[in-house]
Parts: sequence; C-alpha cells; structure tokens
Amino acid sequence: MQKRPRIVIIGAGFGGLYAARTLEQKAVDVLLIDRQNYHTFTPLLYQVATAGLEPEEIGYPVRGIFRAKSNIAFLMGEVIGVNTAEKYVEVITSERTRHEHYDYLIVAAGSVTNDFNLPTLARDSFELKTLPDAIALRNHILRSFETAAWTDDEDYRRALITLVVVGGGATGLETAGALVELFKNVLSKEYPFLRDITPRVVLVEATDRLLIPYPKSLQAAALRQLKSLGVEVILGSPVKATAPDHVTLSDDRVIPTYTLIWAAGVKASPMGALLDLPLNRGGRVPVTATLEAAPLDGVYVIGDMAYLEDASGHPYPMLIPVAKQQGILAAKNILRRIEGRNQEAFRYADRGIMATIGRSRAVAWIFNKVELTGYLAWLSWLGLHLIALLGFRNRLNVFINWVWNYFTYDHSVRLIVEVPDETGGIPAMVMDEPETDLITR
Ligand SMILES: Cc1cc2nc3c(=O)[nH]c(=O)nc-3n(C[C@H](O)[C@H](O)[C@H](O)COP(=O)(O)OP(=O)(O)OC[C@H]3O[C@@H](n4cnc5c(N)ncnc54)[C@H](O)[C@@H]3O)c2cc1C
Repeated sequence: MQKRPRIVIIGAGFGGLYAARTLEQKAVDVLLIDRQNYHTFTPLLYQVATAGLEPEEIGYPVRGIFRAKSNIAFLMGEVIGVNTAEKYVEVITSERTRHEHYDYLIVAAGSVTNDFNLPTLARDSFELKTLPDAIALRNHILRSFETAAWTDDEDYRRALITLVVVGGGATGLETAGALVELFKNVLSKEYPFLRDITPRVVLVEATDRLLIPYPKSLQAAALRQLKSLGVEVILGSPVKATAPDHVTLSDDRVIPTYTLIWAAGVKASPMGALLDLPLNRGGRVPVTATLEAAPLDGVYVIGDMAYLEDASGHPYPMLIPVAKQQGILAAKNILRRIEGRNQEAFRYADRGIMATIGRSRAVAWIFNKVELTGYLAWLSWLGLHLIALLGFRNRLNVFINWVWNYFTYDHSVRLIVEVPDETGGIPAMVMDEPETDLITR
C-alpha cells in the first residue's frame, strides 16, 4: 500500500487548529504539535486576568477537539528546530527529543510580546499572551489589594492600587475597562480602605490615537467611553523606562506603580528564524499568495507569523480571522498539490473589527462600513465572542458568568491560587543532551 502524505502542523492556535480541522478524514496523516495541550481563546484572556472568567472557560483540550478523528495525532512538545533539507522538525517532549518527518509542513507558531527593546520590561511588566500570563496577573492584582489593605504607608498603598496598561489597541482598552469595573463594582465593596481612596487605571499609548485601524469617529468614541468609565488616558507618550515600582514616560512623567501591563503589540514568533529565510517587518516570514515560504519545498507559514500584503500593499493584520482563513487555505492547497491540482491564492474575507470597553460600552466597525458604538456594539461583541468560543460547555459557562456578573455586579473568580512549578512532574525516561543550537537547515 502506498504511504499517505504526512502533514506536520506547528501550533494549535487559530491557524493550526483550522488547518487540522480542514484535513480531518482526508487521505493524509496529520501531526499537530503544540507546547500546550489546549487551544486558547485569546480575546477573553483579559477577562481571566481581571477575575471575570475561569481559565478553563477559554481553553479547550486539543485531544478533545480531534477525539474521533483517526488521521489527526497530537504531540505536546516544544519545537526547537526545522530541518527543511531532510524535512523533519525537532521537538522536545517530556519523554525525549523527537525528530518528526513531514512531507508538508504548516508553521503556525503565532507571535510573542514586542518589548520595543526596553531591557527591563520582562522583569517589570506582565504580558497577556497565554493562560498562565492571565492567571499570574490576576494573582498579582488580588495580592496587591491584600497588601494595600494593611500597609500604613500611604504612598506605597497608592502605588499598589495604581495599574498602568500600555497599549491603545483592543487588548489595552479591554483590559483597562475591565480593571475599572472590577475595582468599582466588586473590590470597593470588600476592601474598607477603598472608601477613602480610589484605585487608578492609567492607559498609556505611544501615538496620539487609540485603536489605530478604526475610523476617527470610533477612535473618539472609544476615548470618550474610556474616560466616562474612569480610565486615565495618556496619549503620545511612549514608555521610556521601567522599574519594579514605577514607570517613566518619554515626557519624564513618573507613575508610581507595581503593576505594569504590557499590551503594546506583538512580533512574530522567533520560530521564523528556524526557516533560514530573510524575515520581514516584525520578524514575519514572507509567503507567496498560496501561503508557501518559497523557495522551501512544501512549507506553508500562516497567521501571525506570515507576511503577505493585500492588494493595496498593506500586510494582513495579526488577527484571528486572518489566521483561521489562512489555516483553511494552506490545508486545502496542500490537498490540491497532492491531487495535482492548481493551488489558490489567499483572499481575505474581512468582516470587520470590534473592541469592548466595559459593561455596555464598545465600538464596532462591521464589514469596515457600519459603525456601532455603545450598547449595540457591546451586544454584538458579546454575541460574536460567544459563538466563536470552542465547545458547548465553555459557551454555556461563559454565558452564565457574563449574565451573573451583569446582574449582580460580582466577579466570583477571585481566588489567589499559586501553583508550584509542576514542569518536573513526570520523570523523563531517557533525556537526550539538551540542544543549544537551533537546527536551521
Ligand atoms: C490578549 C490577546 C487578545 C487578542 N484579541 C483578539 C481579538 O479580539 N480578535 C482578533 O482577531 N485577534 C485577537 N488577538 C490576536 C490573535 O490571538 C492572533 O492573531 C491569532 O491567535 C493568531 O493565530 P496563530 O495561529 O498565528 O497563532 P496562535 O493562535 O497564537 O497560536 C500559536 C500556537 O503555537 C504554539 N507554539 C508557539 N511556539 C511553539 C513552539 N516552539 N513549539 C510548540 N508550540 C508552539 C503556541 O502554544 C500556540 O498555541 C489577540 C491576541 C492576544 C494576545
């Protein structure tokens, strides 16, 4: 019997997941690799960080998604090398380092936080890219309020309840809005010291505008809604330096804080460098219209990692719909290639963008034509995100939580749960020498 083509997919995020789904029940064998055993619904990470949702409600186990799909296998591990000459990827697993052969490779490893070369940022800030990031931030915020409740030092207390969010994109706005609501609606009722002092949420944006891809009228609406909620907005002042107890802006303003949340943008996963190709802006891998990383044979790069321009010369944005649609197309193009048919070029179906700023406040630009603000935009945001969540149980839980929070002004997820380092849980049977050099060829 002829061997079936083997497709390896790196990353079970939005791009990788939709590529694998497209290949279900097809005459190919698929190996999906991710360092985590779950898929993360990133748009709601900020709600985990602000005690609105449980982590389990926005993560879905990959094995559960492909339970009955016999041609899809899952491997939990860290990809550290790609040998495009011999066609295999090198993966560190809890058991050993494996070489997984491919006939076709789909690289969908997403993005990492862009630190804009601020050397102290990793030490002094919280990022919001993964579920562990969101849990760490939630624990830190709740612990800061516990400390603030008992300290006798007024300056220290003020700094503990001042939170600085950097980045005027959707994630920054959503996080800032949700923090104010957590403080106003929940914590103010439980911490007596908050009768005399109000927590500060400061949103810092380097440029002079919020939500850069949106029309000016929606940018203005977002600013209005943030201010009416009580967020202090500072525009046109990039962060110049950070320290554990303060942030310094480019105009030399110093904000004392112990909580700096970095939502100022992302750059492509460093995995792009493993392909040994010249990279484009933001470390993205240039791809052809068919999503191939030419001149490599059989390698497709999609989602946040891929650099492809639209008809007007702008790169496709690092957004979920782009990653999903590219995942589907890359998978279909591989099937077309196997069947000897012509591949198709990527065409983005853009249905618009939206951001929520808190209870009943949001902006939406539907099909990049219709502008919505306020309650209607907020309802559209809720509906769309519920539909997009994976799994009926998650959808139901999130829906119940949202309804509960809306009517009771309560956020029930406020436990500070510290998990000791668990990574060494399963002893490795045979551990190869750890590779320090990346295999790039
Ligand atoms: C907080 C936040 C909120 C967002 N909100 C929105 C939103 O509202 N709407 C929107 O359209 N977009 C949003 N985005 C952007 C969106 O998440 C990305 O554009 C999208 O996830 C890109 O899909 P991807 O498949 O390229 O990468 P991802 O979905 O990030 O998936 C990458 C996967 O690769 C895995 N991986 C990475 N490196 C390795 C490795 N070395 N070995 C093994 N596995 C690896 C990761 O664990 C991850 O599962 C948000 C992003 C963040 C961080």
